[in-house]
Amino acid sequence: MSKSPGKIYVVATPIGNLGDMTTRAIEVLSSVDLILAEDTRHSIPLLRHFQIQTRCQAFHEHNEISVAASVCERVKQGESVAIISDAGVPLISDPGFPLVRMAHENKLPVVSIPGACAAISAISVAGLATDRFTFEGFLPAKSGAKRKVLETLLDESRTMIFYESPRRVIDTLKIMLELFGENRQAVLARELTKLFETVHKASLPELLHFVESDSNQVKGEIVLLLEGIQKEETDEDEEELKRILSVLLEELSVKQAVSIAMNLKNLKRNQVYPIALELKKISEDSESL
Ligand code: SAM
Repeated sequence: MSKSPGKIYVVATPIGNLGDMTTRAIEVLSSVDLILAEDTRHSIPLLRHFQIQTRCQAFHEHNEISVAASVCERVKQGESVAIISDAGVPLISDPGFPLVRMAHENKLPVVSIPGACAAISAISVAGLATDRFTFEGFLPAKSGAKRKVLETLLDESRTMIFYESPRRVIDTLKIMLELFGENRQAVLARELTKLFETVHKASLPELLHFVESDSNQVKGEIVLLLEGIQKEETDEDEEELKRILSVLLEELSVKQAVSIAMNLKNLKRNQVYPIALELKKISEDSESL
């Protein structure tokens, strides 16, 4: 008779404050056969602090596929395994996805042991809309690539959450200011749950000034949050686009007017073309009256 499988536990650990370790996390980590840790040098002191004796093995992006295969075999044989990352929830901008995917492919049980997560902690105190939000993880390090990703978010109406390195936060805020404008609200959530915890909400120029004028604000761990586009902003943008197109259409063809308006407003053809056609039709109709 084949053994019933064990379980794979995805266990959250604190994002700075050891008081956020949950009772269930301690129980599960103490009772499993193996703990897979993103960095054992980082996790062993945490496990010792909670007197957890379980064997710990390194599990990171360079070995996770091979480790995942052998872990699934062990779980099929009845062993239980927990994954932890350096902080917060594994798989959230952290290793673990190949193992969880492989576990599902092998119909092995995966159990969440919830706890601290920087993104969720940050949005819960940011004072930005929480009904809908999008987690964008880390932006690319290089400015050009970062700008391209941010450009895809120009029309995003949900609150956006980014993980950011303290070395790059000023560059990111400068690009955000350029792309999203002076009125957009943003939040710096720094060192959450730790001694120098800071949550600062302001418009993009004010937040940039706050960070540039205090070198402490570019230290530690940072979550940046950006307000989504507001309906009034969308309406104002559409009104301005219509004004530009009306002037251009007095002198130019629809194709030429669309192309210039696209460049001026940094928009895609399908955002401009239908409006230009509508305006052209309205002016032709009024001329034929
Ligand atoms: N898995 C983690 C989680 O659940 O939040 C995130 C891991 S990711 C490699 C690390 C990033 O999370 C940091 O660079 C920072 O952006 C954010 N972060 C982690 N701890 C934080 C804290 N205490 N305060 C603010 N941001 C934090």
